[in-house]
Parts: sequence; C-alpha cells; structure tokens
Amino acid sequence: MESERGFVEFELSEGGFSSGEEEVLAPGVLLVPLLTPAACQEVLAQIEERRRALAVRRPPSSMHDHGVMLGRIGLDGLVDQLRGRLAPLLEAHFPLQGGPEIDHHHSYLVEYGRELDEDLGFHVDDSEVTLNLCLGEEFSGAELVLLGARCDLHRQTEVADSEVIEIEHQPGQAVLHAGRQRHRVDPILRGTRRNLIAWLRSSGYREREEGPGPSCRPWCGLHRG
Ligand SMILES: [Zn+2]
Repeated sequence: MESERGFVEFELSEGGFSSGEEEVLAPGVLLVPLLTPAACQEVLAQIEERRRALAVRRPPSSMHDHGVMLGRIGLDGLVDQLRGRLAPLLEAHFPLQGGPEIDHHHSYLVEYGRELDEDLGFHVDDSEVTLNLCLGEEFSGAELVLLGARCDLHRQTEVADSEVIEIEHQPGQAVLHAGRQRHRVDPILRGTRRNLIAWLRSSGYREREEGPGPSCRPWCGLHRG
C-alpha cells in the first residue's frame, strides 16, 4: 500500500519487537522494552531516507528546532502499529486518562545533541498518554525527568521529592506516561539521542473533559477524594 506521499507503508516485522516485560515505576509511569536494536536502526533509516527524499526541514513543534513530524514522511502507520502493540498496557494502566479509547495521535521524532536540541524545559504534553521511544544512538545525558501528574488547576504547584523520576533512555526502550505528567529533558552531554514521541489521544475523553473550567481529577497528585 502507498501512503499519500508515494512511500510504501512501513511496518515492522514481528521479529523487530522485544519480548521483555514492562516495569511500572509509579502509577501511570511504565518502562516498556519495545524494539530490538536492529528494529531501531531500521526505523531510523526509514526516517532518514524519507526525510531526505522529501526535503522536510521544518521542525515538529515550537518546542523543538530539530526533528520531524512522522505524518509528513508517511510514518503514521508505524505509530499505529506500535499503539496496537501497546493497547493492553494503555487499557490496564491509564483507565482514568482515556487509555482504553485512544483513537488518534500526533507523532514526531526529536533529536538531542550538541548541534541539535540540547534540552527541554518543564512542560506537559497535549496527549492523554505519551509514548516516548528511544531509537538511539550513542549518548550520555538528556535524561527524561518526570515531575508528578497534575490536573490543569494544579499544574504550577510544587514538585514533591517523592514524585521525581529520572529515566535514562536506552535504545529500544519506551516510556509510557500520562500527558499531564509534568516533565523536562536534562542537557545532553555527549552524542545524539533520537526518540519517537507519540501523543496518544482520545476523542471521547476530550469531549467529556470539555467543561466550564478546570477542576481537579482523580489522577492528579494533589487530588483529595
Ligand atoms: Zn488537581
């Protein structure tokens, strides 16, 4: 099948997936061994080839100077494949954040390096659940630091020490976290880190969340039920 830009659809074969077990670091924060090193290389090669052929130079968002939107290079289908693979985890671990009813996504490649993006400040994602998959390559630094889940009302409140989770990315390993999990990326010290980011979204969840104004949610770190 061809995508709208004339590229053959790219899908990973079964052998590209890792068979390891997920690890739950905190409620709504999971480490998932997802791809083999060879599959990571294959995905990076696809991205490079398509990006070069299409001469896509525009960065994926205002938060990044480097990287590329995967939809622009015909790779949304790959993200759909990953999302299908992760569906049981989305259902089991994100029942309150729309995880069981994800139906679309906004996905891009980010690139950290001394000549690329060097870090990223405190923010939340416009997603119900974020898939953050490290594809490579050699690097040190650029850790992902999670700073606690918050509803819109409590976003700017203090971070408790117990909420801080620092994750060193490993190629092939994915992090799944709620979009409203506050986070930042520490400065890269050496090498280049390329990650596939998918903001997984649910139309149904978004519709139900629309209301007169923000109120606290059960998954918020400051929720008092
Ligand atoms: Zn709250």
